[in-house]
Amino acid sequence: MKKSTKVLLVIIGVCLIVLIILQIFFSGQTAEPVNAEVQTTAGTAGGNLIKDDSYVWPELTVDLLDINPYSRPGTALSAVNNIVIHYVANPGSSAKANRDYFNGLATSHLTSASAHMVVGLEGEIVQCIPLNEVAYASNDRNNDTIAIEVCHPEADGKFTPTTYDTLTNLCAWLCLRYGLPADALIRHYDVTGKNCPKYYVEHEDAWEQLKSDVAAKMQNYPKQNAPVG
Ligand SMILES: [Zn+2]
Repeated sequence: MKKSTKVLLVIIGVCLIVLIILQIFFSGQTAEPVNAEVQTTAGTAGGNLIKDDSYVWPELTVDLLDINPYSRPGTALSAVNNIVIHYVANPGSSAKANRDYFNGLATSHLTSASAHMVVGLEGEIVQCIPLNEVAYASNDRNNDTIAIEVCHPEADGKFTPTTYDTLTNLCAWLCLRYGLPADALIRHYDVTGKNCPKYYVEHEDAWEQLKSDVAAKMQNYPKQNAPVG
């Protein structure tokens, strides 16, 4: 083999190794971050919305929607003044199925809809949108609210005890995090008059109970690294 051919082969080899290293480096960078709020087009503006970040995050699955005009516009929330509760109006459907429906609107264009969180029938939570971005759920209150969709087994829209427990816990955390009282919880009905969440519009006492259960949970909500004992 000629010396110049050997040199050429070495150069090609080195280039290949560099390419492989770059490939590994960049594929690592695109991995989903653990904290959903890191990955946002909203920049750091949303950080100012948080009043107290010391409370323990609820257990949840981060499964963010793709940024698209139908369910995740990628724009920053201007404030967090209320938490809006919805029911999915699709009895027996799972949190994941509702999340996938929202994500599918990017291609189906059926309507504009989404929520920051979906609480499922087994008490699971799927996060669809970073908490400092706008979701399409509450009409003209999309810019200053966090939206929670809740799954339900029957057409009456009543939440199961497990779902209810997760929901009230999630709401307690959100209220503490954004410096809101339990009374800042509102229904979609309170924004537009829509019968949503159905059971808690038709049963005012159940709605009042839900808010007082959230207030009670706020009293004892754990902080991160709280001293034991
Ligand atoms: Zn609704």
